[in-house]
Amino acid sequence: MPRALAVDVGGSKLAAAVVELPGAGGVPVLTHRRTVPTPADEGGPAVLAAATALARQVLADAAQDPPGARVEAVGVASAGTVRPADGAITHATGTLPGWAGTPLGDHLRRELGLPVLVLNDVHAHGVGEALDGAGRGHRSVLVVAVGTGVGGALVVDGEPAVGAHGVAGHVGHLPVPEAAGVPCTCGREGHLEGFASGHGLRTAFRDRTGRDLPAREVAALAAAGDGTARTLLAEAGRATGRTVGALLNVLDPDVVVVGGGLAAAPEPWPSELREGVALEAMDPVAATPVLLSGAGADAALTGAARVALARAHDIP
Ligand SMILES: [Zn+2]
Repeated sequence: MPRALAVDVGGSKLAAAVVELPGAGGVPVLTHRRTVPTPADEGGPAVLAAATALARQVLADAAQDPPGARVEAVGVASAGTVRPADGAITHATGTLPGWAGTPLGDHLRRELGLPVLVLNDVHAHGVGEALDGAGRGHRSVLVVAVGTGVGGALVVDGEPAVGAHGVAGHVGHLPVPEAAGVPCTCGREGHLEGFASGHGLRTAFRDRTGRDLPAREVAALAAAGDGTARTLLAEAGRATGRTVGALLNVLDPDVVVVGGGLAAAPEPWPSELREGVALEAMDPVAATPVLLSGAGADAALTGAARVALARAHDIP
């Protein structure tokens, strides 16, 4: 049974586990899981050292159980933009200061002596969602994650489209009319993420009411009938739907899977999402199923492991 070590490097925690892939149609099994807090405040080298130590520990645990058991490859899901050729981090946000410039792939290859594939965490999560979540059984799956930020991944035949620079799938940085004039985290303005992410919703609600509440509380207020919260949640849902509809025109996937914290938002978010899709999608793609996330919290680990094992013979 093929086994990979999977490592997830996030802004708040580092996780590693052995992922076993059963035969066709089976569900991945995670064992030997370890999790530690990310020493994000200590900078990139400290995060790299902690991730490497965690990976070594899990490999050591796995080698004893059963004795001599082999791990074929290492799949890493990391925050930040990943250079496809070597798995270096080329860009990272403020959640991981100093992470940009980290030669993550080369370092782990040298330290662990195994083939290593590094994916951006949204790409890895997208593969997990496509193969083991709501996208299961579909050949091409567009995954859109609407949480603190807005990310996405197009997964075709189990492979994420990462693009020439590892940037593909940044669906939060498409313009939508609802976000006109709103500053975006990328330094531009008018993008979906600046308005319709959890962070955007929180900022918009604070700007209009003077109250600073997490997005989930804004959503709860909307459900309880608060007019401002309801209007903002509706606009955010519609803006997200417009983006999904426009992406259907460009990518024409078999299904779309929407996940992230806001995917669980109450009405009017879900109906406005569907309205937004209907506004933008061309007729032949208008009926494309838009599903809600079905993958659990381990999707990034299983996704990274799956791609690493699929490519174990071609990755350095
Ligand atoms: Zn942007």
